[in-house]
Amino acid sequence: MCGIVGYVGKENRCVEVLMEGLRHLEYRGYDSAGLALQLSGRIEAIKQSGHLEKLAEAIAERNGAFSRARAGVGHTRWATHGRPNDVNAHPQLGNGGTVAVVHNGIIENFAELKEEIEGRGTTFESETDTEVIAHLIAEGMEEGRSLREAFAGALRRLRGSFAVAVVSAREPEKVVAARRQSPLVVGLGKDENFLASAVQALLKETREFLLVENGEIAEVTDSSVQIFTLEGEPVRRKTFVVDWDAEAVELGGFEDYMLKEIHEQPAALRNTLSGRIDADGAVDLSEVDVDPDTLAAVEAARAFGGRILAVTNTQGSLITREADAVLLTRAGLEIGVAATKTFLAQVAALDLLALGLARAKGAVAEEVLLELGRDLRRAPEKVEEVLGMLEGRVEEAARVFEEARCALFLGRGPSHAVALEGALKLKEISYLPAEGHPAGEMKHGPIALVDEHCPVVAVLGEGLIREKTLSNVEETVARGANVITVAREDDEAARRMSRVVLPVPEAPEMLGPFVCSAPLQLLAYRVAKDRGCDVDKPRNLAKSVTVE
Ligand code: GLU
Repeated sequence: MCGIVGYVGKENRCVEVLMEGLRHLEYRGYDSAGLALQLSGRIEAIKQSGHLEKLAEAIAERNGAFSRARAGVGHTRWATHGRPNDVNAHPQLGNGGTVAVVHNGIIENFAELKEEIEGRGTTFESETDTEVIAHLIAEGMEEGRSLREAFAGALRRLRGSFAVAVVSAREPEKVVAARRQSPLVVGLGKDENFLASAVQALLKETREFLLVENGEIAEVTDSSVQIFTLEGEPVRRKTFVVDWDAEAVELGGFEDYMLKEIHEQPAALRNTLSGRIDADGAVDLSEVDVDPDTLAAVEAARAFGGRILAVTNTQGSLITREADAVLLTRAGLEIGVAATKTFLAQVAALDLLALGLARAKGAVAEEVLLELGRDLRRAPEKVEEVLGMLEGRVEEAARVFEEARCALFLGRGPSHAVALEGALKLKEISYLPAEGHPAGEMKHGPIALVDEHCPVVAVLGEGLIREKTLSNVEETVARGANVITVAREDDEAARRMSRVVLPVPEAPEMLGPFVCSAPLQLLAYRVAKDRGCDVDKPRNLAKSVTVE
């Protein structure tokens, strides 16, 4: 997984558009970054291990040396083959630098291809699987084929999943690209055209896109975009327009995307629920092609892996085209690698689905369903309320982690799921080992972790599960744990046994996961910031996982 971009158009724009595109794709991988630019009949490659900023500095040091480029490709890497160093950074070059390739994904048969190519006398520079593509294309062009033909020939030899973009010194002002499983879109402009792994890389430039399908080649110049099959047959493709706001890719005054996105959750939930649940609480999912037919299929699916419903945030993403039905979560663009608003929007979408299916199946009395529906409608307002209650408390709770070496998150029933999500958030962005566990099972192992360096975070919930969880918390206090509870402000018992209470408002049971997740997101955020971590780009992770 990684980000690739391409541009063909105007002088003084090429480097800027490529770098801006990469900035918005960096969440996909940040081991290294690089550009390949066409400049007066040759390819200039510039690449740098580390975050994109390093590449920006290297470009700045060259004092506008690349400003005359009109075509090029760019890459941010998430290394799969070869260490994240300068040599393994993309672009990878073939034939003395006449061909440059950027690649997302894995070439599964690269070892045998490498051996074959080395057998023909070529020396490899890097440890990447990508380099075989550059050499295969270069060889094809040496034999007199055009860039597109040579590229098609190379693609036929590759196994695995990938998106690839290529420039050649022999065919200036042109970028060719193709994909198999990994994503790739073409953006359309005026006297310029673009390529990227995801539309958000190009939102500042265009809203009009077309998709490159599996096994097709896109040939892009400043004035044309043509799609071909591997056999060279032209393909007609409709364009689509994306209505995401370009501002979504800006920080808007927040310190990090993650913090911004945590605060966008009420709005995201409003979008998820809008038009799908009325004031009486009745759920309407007629947009999703779910009828009794499908219910029978769902049952069969349990046994046989049948029809697919995609619950996704990304309009036009691969899964929306491969699934039989789609339920869009409509949370808006999320850039922070650790999911926040997409997580809560997904919980809301699945709640809607459960209510919709229960109604279609007649499994639960109508009155009960309507009441649950009315509860669910209040999710945005309740999340807004909890975000407003946490001021100061999160910082205090984060201080409990100053000497921590791990953390234990406890909960029962639905609060156990929240505890798991809280532990995941903490380990993802602060790198502290954290375990989410059913509070009642703690004595079967995890309690051995508990001491003053292993804070316990307990999600109490309401009613019977609250009381039982409190007893478990008491047991950890007896063993020296520093406890943080997610509990109602007026919960005296919770206050007595906790170092810090992260307060949540009174809310219907159905909304427990919504109101209790937000404090844990903010806690993970604060702990990670206090430890000096990059919360938007946690190490080793990437937002979309495109390799198996
Ligand atoms: N497999 C390639 C590499 O390791 C590409 C990885 C990526 O998608 O960034 O260099």
